[in-house]
Amino acid sequence: MSTDRYPFREIEAKWQRTWEEMKQFRVQEDPSRPKFYCLEMFPYPSGRIHMGHVRVYAIGDLLARYKWMRGYNVLHPMGWDAFGLPAENAAIEHGVHPVIWTYENIDYMRSQLQKMGISYDWDREVATCDPTYYKWEQLIFIKMLERGLAYRKRSTVNWCPSCQTVLANEQVEDGRCWRCNSEVMPREIDSWFFKITAYAEELLAWCDRLPGWPERVLTMQRNWIGKSEGAEFDLKVDGQPDLSIRVFTTRPDTVFGMAYAVLAPEHPLVDRVVRDPAEREAVARFRAEVSRQSEIERTAADRPKRGLRLSAKVVNPFTNTPVPLFLADYVLMGYGTGAIMAVPGEDERDWEFAEQHGLPIIETVQRPDGWTGKAYTGDGVKINSGFLDGLAVAEAKRRATDWLVSHGVGIGKVNYRLRDWGISRQRYWGAPIPVLYCDKDGMVPEAEKNLPVALPRDVQLSGKGGSPLASVASFVNATCPKCGGPAKRETDTMDTFVESSWYFLRYCSPRYDTGMFEANAAAYWMPVDQYIGGIEHAVLHLLYARFYTKVLRDLGLTKIDEPFMALLSQGMVIKDGAKMSKSKGNVVSDDYVREKYGADTGRLFELFAAPPEKDLEWNDQGIEGASRFLNRVWRFVIAHLDEIKAAPAAAPASLSDAGRAFRRTIHETIQRVTDDIEREFHFNTAIAAIMELVNALQAFEAAAGDGARTTPEHAALMREAVETTLHLLGPFCPHVTEELWEQLGHRESLFKQRWPVADPAALQKTEVTVVVQVDGKVRGRLQVGVDAADDQVRQLALGDDRVKPWVERRRIEKVVVVPNRLVNIVTRA
Ligand SMILES: [Zn+2]
Ligand SMILES: [Zn+2]
Repeated sequence: MSTDRYPFREIEAKWQRTWEEMKQFRVQEDPSRPKFYCLEMFPYPSGRIHMGHVRVYAIGDLLARYKWMRGYNVLHPMGWDAFGLPAENAAIEHGVHPVIWTYENIDYMRSQLQKMGISYDWDREVATCDPTYYKWEQLIFIKMLERGLAYRKRSTVNWCPSCQTVLANEQVEDGRCWRCNSEVMPREIDSWFFKITAYAEELLAWCDRLPGWPERVLTMQRNWIGKSEGAEFDLKVDGQPDLSIRVFTTRPDTVFGMAYAVLAPEHPLVDRVVRDPAEREAVARFRAEVSRQSEIERTAADRPKRGLRLSAKVVNPFTNTPVPLFLADYVLMGYGTGAIMAVPGEDERDWEFAEQHGLPIIETVQRPDGWTGKAYTGDGVKINSGFLDGLAVAEAKRRATDWLVSHGVGIGKVNYRLRDWGISRQRYWGAPIPVLYCDKDGMVPEAEKNLPVALPRDVQLSGKGGSPLASVASFVNATCPKCGGPAKRETDTMDTFVESSWYFLRYCSPRYDTGMFEANAAAYWMPVDQYIGGIEHAVLHLLYARFYTKVLRDLGLTKIDEPFMALLSQGMVIKDGAKMSKSKGNVVSDDYVREKYGADTGRLFELFAAPPEKDLEWNDQGIEGASRFLNRVWRFVIAHLDEIKAAPAAAPASLSDAGRAFRRTIHETIQRVTDDIEREFHFNTAIAAIMELVNALQAFEAAAGDGARTTPEHAALMREAVETTLHLLGPFCPHVTEELWEQLGHRESLFKQRWPVADPAALQKTEVTVVVQVDGKVRGRLQVGVDAADDQVRQLALGDDRVKPWVERRRIEKVVVVPNRLVNIVTRA
């Protein structure tokens, strides 16, 4: 290499080859050592890794290597979330089969990750589109079916017209498809669900027991689960004694303020309440209008609420007065009971609706002084509320619920916003749902011995709608495992989020072929100690994986309650003001950075440019700076190889002042870098500390005179500083540090060395600055030995040249010594 850059190409290739040959990151269970399971969310094999993706792998590799050096047995696997729509869409566009497209991308992306030198145990690689993988989730599906945790139901679901498939609620953001951003439409369809709602309470409760998770993610999950406590009770329909409507409210204390009630347009009681033919027609028209909106639109806060007033009324059970009854789009059949009592005084939506429809508004909570808003949802004293008057809201809620219970009209009730997870996809490239439909036996799960139900290779993909599998006769026409007669296979495939709900378990024993995972291996490695991935999965993958783990636990497969002990959600990589992505055309390719600067430089830049949880702005100066730093380290170490190799292994016990100060810098750096990695993931400040150490090293070398330079002290400290630098920098930039480590004459890998520990003796400050005050004013500063005797400090203070003029010719009343900090002298004339 003739350029000014160190030979990173040769070095990186050499060490990737060596680590591979040594099988350095291949691991096995070893009960004698503490384990650390370090995991980055596995990628979808979409094509190419770019610098927007590199960040998460750089963070994972840094933590894995750091933990190796701390003596842990580290599991750091990688695989592919390989099912999904892009493969199918590419097939439709370019005529290449999804399986070919997927495995070609996997091969390319694997080679990229290998050229980055990430410390993966490649023996554990899994691809979720492999039948030996999805076989096991088909088995679990059948077990879930037996327990009622998987079920099929006709319901209104979210339909993405562009992706031509159903989406789960978690996959709809502001009414749009999470993948393609198309507007989602409601559609009534038979489809499969996982009963995640059965775990709502546990999922919520564990949000308080995951201290290693970012609070932001836990809050998003809590809100998504949306627990609300309240009461459920009956409203009698006025004049129809046999009819009553069940409502749910979180505010039973506000019943005295009920201005009207609302039924969801889909509510089955509507047809009984409405009997007049003309009114029925109006209802049908209203329902048709509402059915054109998605749930998200219907419940959006910022749009007018549509309502249809019915001729029937309902009776307020507390006051026995009839109030109007409406159908309104903002009440959904799927939440609570599909009917509400409306209390505009204390509910914003109801207030708006009441204003739009000229309904009375009764306030039942005393407003705070100066209140100018509309509905008031805060605490206060109850008013206009009969027997609840004068009570605080919480107590009034209890009393109102007691009243409903004792009068036989209602019960206390908890509701959740969370809905069951819709897992049916009307697409090809996914795991087949392992059930059949037999004329004689109805729906029948596939027999265990027939698993996997493999995805047929031969399929016509048109993207024109309908499950592609339905047109594959050899797949559809099958044998009923129960009666042996003809049966038709289910043609929906599973949501790909099912595969990602357990891949971390599969990594524990990826080749195990008699079950999902080997119990002892999983017991050793699980749970994941550090999980790293984007915030966009807060209520998607991260919720599903928690649920699925609990299901596996309840099926007796694992003992863990939660899959991920700690979570780091890295920020995005931004370029030209937008998230780096292929579709935005602002991608910096990993290949380009690696070719021009080396993989270590790309990683160092991304770890240095911002704290991991913050967004990172790509800039070319930054990467140049990272490159300059590594070259500086390289040149310095190479220039001093002989001196360092000849140096004593340890610094002498007694050091010169300069030597002691330099050694303190070395050990302070160890402490700072360790704390920054360990406590708060402040990788950027850790790197800054290493850079300061390198500056100090160069200054130490430059300041030493020729005589000093040849002393054992100098050589020993140079060695200590250089070796410490390589240790600390190793997990950030593994190739260049490993090479320099070898150049220093070491035979064993840098990553088999122990992470340095700061020497308390070296950290000790030998002198401190003590401030001298005379009559409350600072008059001098003393350099004294740490923990010097009070008497000695007092003498030094009184004898100090800057202090003397302020105490001479005055009587000294009192001298107070605060050790290591202050001498306070009080005088009198
Ligand atoms: Zn879509
Ligand atoms: Zn049958």
